[in-house]
Amino acid sequence: MRLRTRLALAFALLALVPLAVVVPLTVSRLRDTLSREQTARMGAATTSAQESLERSATTVRRAVEELVESPAMEDLAREAREHPMLAIQAGTAEALMKSRGLTVLTLFDRSGTVLSSGHLPARRGDPDPALFTVTRAAPERPVPVRVEVRTTAGLRQALALVSARPVDYGDARLWAVGGVLLDDGLAQHLSRLTQAEVTLLAGDTALAHAGSAEAPTLERVLPLGDAASVRLTFSRAAAREAVQGVMRAFLLLAALGMAFAALLGLLVSRWMTRPVEALTSGARRVAEGALDVQVTTEATGELGELVRAFNHMTSELQATTERLMASERIAAWQEVARRLAHEIKNPLTPIRMSLETLLAAQASAHPSFPTLFKESAGVVLEEVDRLRRIVDEFSHFARLPKPQLTRVDLGELTQSVLALYASPPEGIQLLPTVQEGVVARADRDQLTQVLVNLVKNAEEAMAHKGGALRVRVKGTDSDAVIEVEDSGPGIPPEHRARIFEPYFTTKDGGTGLGLAIAARILQEHGGKLEVSGEPGQGARFTVVLPRANS
Ligand code: ADP
Repeated sequence: MRLRTRLALAFALLALVPLAVVVPLTVSRLRDTLSREQTARMGAATTSAQESLERSATTVRRAVEELVESPAMEDLAREAREHPMLAIQAGTAEALMKSRGLTVLTLFDRSGTVLSSGHLPARRGDPDPALFTVTRAAPERPVPVRVEVRTTAGLRQALALVSARPVDYGDARLWAVGGVLLDDGLAQHLSRLTQAEVTLLAGDTALAHAGSAEAPTLERVLPLGDAASVRLTFSRAAAREAVQGVMRAFLLLAALGMAFAALLGLLVSRWMTRPVEALTSGARRVAEGALDVQVTTEATGELGELVRAFNHMTSELQATTERLMASERIAAWQEVARRLAHEIKNPLTPIRMSLETLLAAQASAHPSFPTLFKESAGVVLEEVDRLRRIVDEFSHFARLPKPQLTRVDLGELTQSVLALYASPPEGIQLLPTVQEGVVARADRDQLTQVLVNLVKNAEEAMAHKGGALRVRVKGTDSDAVIEVEDSGPGIPPEHRARIFEPYFTTKDGGTGLGLAIAARILQEHGGKLEVSGEPGQGARFTVVLPRANS
C-alpha cells in the first residue's frame, strides 16, 4: 500500500477513536436520563390517576349519603312502607339519580327486588343480585361492580363505582345503590390526565378504553377493589426516538469526520510524499548514472533539509566522479606515454650502435667501411620503419574518430568479416551461429575492426595446435551480442586484467593495441567488451551493444 493511502486511512481511523469513546458513553447516559425521566413521569401520572379515582369515589360516597338523608328519600320510604310498587314509580330513580349528578342508581326493597332503576328502568320488578351484593360491602368505600346499561346498540355490560346505603322508616327498609359509570368518558379523562392509554378492566375483560400508546410500551396497573383495575399503558417511543436521533447524529458526525480526516490525510501525505517521491526518482536516476540530478521542492523542515542534503550529495558525487575520471585519464595517458617511450627506445639503440660503428669505421678508414655502411644503413632504415609504424598506430589509437552510428545488422556484418576467412588456416575450423534480425546502432567500420581483431587473436591463439573458432550472434530484449570463442590456451588469470591495456602483448611483434582499441570503440558505442573462459580451455570475447529498436 502506498504511503499516501496508508496516511489517509490512519487519519480516518484516528478521527473515529474519540467518537468510538464518546458515543457509547453519551448514548448510555442519555438512555439512563430518559429512563429516569420516564419512570418519574409514569409515577406522577399514576398518582394523579389514583387521585382522580379517589375523588370520584368520594363524590359517589357523598352523593349517595346526601341522597339517603334527603327529605325526598324519607318521604319515599314512608310512602313505600305499605305499597312500595305504588309509591315508587319507574322514573323515580332516574329523577333522583340526575338530581345528584350520578349515572347509576337502583332502589331495592330489602329482598333485592328492583323498585326503580335510573340507569336501566326496565329492571323494575326483577332482582339484580350483582348490584345488590354491594349492600353487603362497607358503605364508606365505593366499590367497582359490573352493571348492565342500555345503549342504542342494546344491553351492554359496564363497570360502575357504586356505594350502597339503607333507608329505614320504622321497620321498613329500602336500599339505594348509586354511583358513576366507569365508562369511556372516564377513561378519556384519565388518558388526558396521564398522557397514557387507559383501559378499565373487570377481571380480564376490557370494559372501557381511551387513548393509544405507540410501541414500545410500559404498563402500570391500578387495582380498583378486588375484581377491577385500571391499566395505564405508557409509550416509550419518544425516548427511543430521541436515542435513535442522537445515534443518527453521531453516525453522520462519524462519517463526516472520517471523510474530512481522510481528505486531510491525503493532503498532508501529498505534501509529505511529494518531496519523497521526487527524491526516489532522483535516486533512481543517479543509480542509472545521471549524476547531475537536482531535486526541486518547496518542502521545508526536515524534508527540505533531506532534499538539500540529497542535492548536495549528487553535486559532490558528480564533482568527485569528474575528478576521478580526470585523474584516471591522466594516469592512463601516463602509462601509455611510458610504454610508448619504451617502444621508441627499443629501435633507438640499434640505430645509435649502427651509427657509432660507422663513425668508428670511418675514423679508422677501415677497409670494410662500404660493406659496413650498407649493413648499418639497412638496420637504421628498418628501425626507422618500425618507429614510423609505432607512431602511426599510436596516432590511430590517440585520435580514434567519433563513431558514425547507423543501423548495423550484426549477422550480416559477421558473415562479411568471416568471408575474409573463406579458407581458414590449416587445422582451424570456423563455426558460426547467427540469429537473424539482431540490429545495433553502430559505426560499421569500427565494429568491423573490432571483429577482425577478435577473430585474428583467436586464430593466433590456435596457430600451433588448431581448433574450433565459434562465432555467435544473438539478441536479448535490450542487447545485441557477438561472441568470439576459440579453443586455444585461454588467458592466464594474471593477464586477464591487463589485456585491455595499451601496449600489453605476449606476442613477438605484437603491438598490444588491438584489444585496447576494441574496448575503447565499444565504450564509445555505449557497449562493452568482456572476456571469459577457463585457462587451458580457450578464451571467449563477448561484444555487447545496445540493441536498436526494430
Ligand atoms: P596483440 O594481438 O598485438 O598482442 P591485443 O591487444 O590484440 O594485441 O592482445 C593483447 C594480448 O591479449 C595478446 O598478446 C594475448 O596475450 C592476449 N590475447 C588476446 N586474444 C587472445 C586469445 N584469443 N587467446 C589468448 N590470448 C589472447
